[in-house]
Amino acid sequence: MTIKYPVYQPNISGNEKKYVNECLNSTWISGKGKFIDKFEKDFAQFIGCSHAVAVCNGTVALHLALEALGIGDGDEVIVPTLTYVASVNAITYTGAKPIFVDSLADTWQVDPVDVRKKITGKTKAILCVHLYGHPCEMQRLVEIAKDHDLFLIEDCAEAIGSKYEGKHVGGFGDIATFSFYGNKTITTGEGGMVTTNNSTLYERIVHLKGQGLAKYREYWHDAIGYNYRMTNICAAIGLAQLERVNSIIEKKIEIANWYRKELNNTNIQFHSQAENIVHSYWMCTILLPENIDRQKLKIYLLENGIETRPMFYPVHTMPIYAQKYEEHKVAEALARRGMNLPSYPELSLADIKEIVKCIKSFENQFIIEE
Ligand SMILES: *Cc1c(COP(=O)(O)O)cnc(C)c1O
Repeated sequence: MTIKYPVYQPNISGNEKKYVNECLNSTWISGKGKFIDKFEKDFAQFIGCSHAVAVCNGTVALHLALEALGIGDGDEVIVPTLTYVASVNAITYTGAKPIFVDSLADTWQVDPVDVRKKITGKTKAILCVHLYGHPCEMQRLVEIAKDHDLFLIEDCAEAIGSKYEGKHVGGFGDIATFSFYGNKTITTGEGGMVTTNNSTLYERIVHLKGQGLAKYREYWHDAIGYNYRMTNICAAIGLAQLERVNSIIEKKIEIANWYRKELNNTNIQFHSQAENIVHSYWMCTILLPENIDRQKLKIYLLENGIETRPMFYPVHTMPIYAQKYEEHKVAEALARRGMNLPSYPELSLADIKEIVKCIKSFENQFIIEE
């Protein structure tokens, strides 16, 4: 069957080809080059932080953030269970233990009360995730981190363009990370960024990203580092994307508002928005009523050319992380009911109307008030 509306597709309508050709023509195609430098500089400026380091994906960005903070064996890192698995895997790579916390029912973000409850003598950091583009409650998380002398890491993979009290996410903790995977708000194909306002941490990130190369001696390595470099080609794409980031974000917010309006008279629920924030709507996600068979609806929509995704499964329920039985009731209920709708920037109001019409026609299952 043909898919008319995929969940996502990147918008590559700007200077991407021109910049990539510049890389090819100049032979600067590897992990050094002017597009990397410019992408890092402009990205830092966009986020409003002092330093940005381009890396090859969002997962290694998290790994570097944790390593730069010295997190490792025997440490505990608090993380929401309702996130993409990479947030948790990166903690595991360092030898530290992920400690799962539940989510808030309205904003779907990490529950600060549960964070406080899970702090032990081994806790070193809180890794918060601005899930689906809605910022976490940063004021409370910053306060908790301060009270307990913990590092705060922000996983902003889904949150470029998201603001908390007027300030872009990524500047509230010690280090933040971003992803530029193909379905993220801006993309480099595969790619990521680490940002910080701390110059010591910045130097450690650069050092670890490039094989732990000593600063003043060639081919001498004074740490076991990694090759986590981004290529100049990816950075060329990223720079062209960044030039259009504001219009992409505006369009995504518009799409979310269209869905909200068109589904307004049904018993489908929306991601609620706190007052003091800008939600950048990486994905437009709805909550289905408990009685709706999500898998059946998914197949029905697919038969009509509309692709959807379930919400992330809470990581504590995956066998690789379920050694100890845990319950996180809010996250589990959200994950059971959540569905991502097509959310890419080319969608028009007519497209949204067609998608919504199809959802509403599902076996007369939704309550629709006329
Ligand atoms: C996409 C994503 C990542 C990982 O990014 P990759 O670039 O795919 O490695 C990490 N955390 C969250 C919350 C994400 O959505």
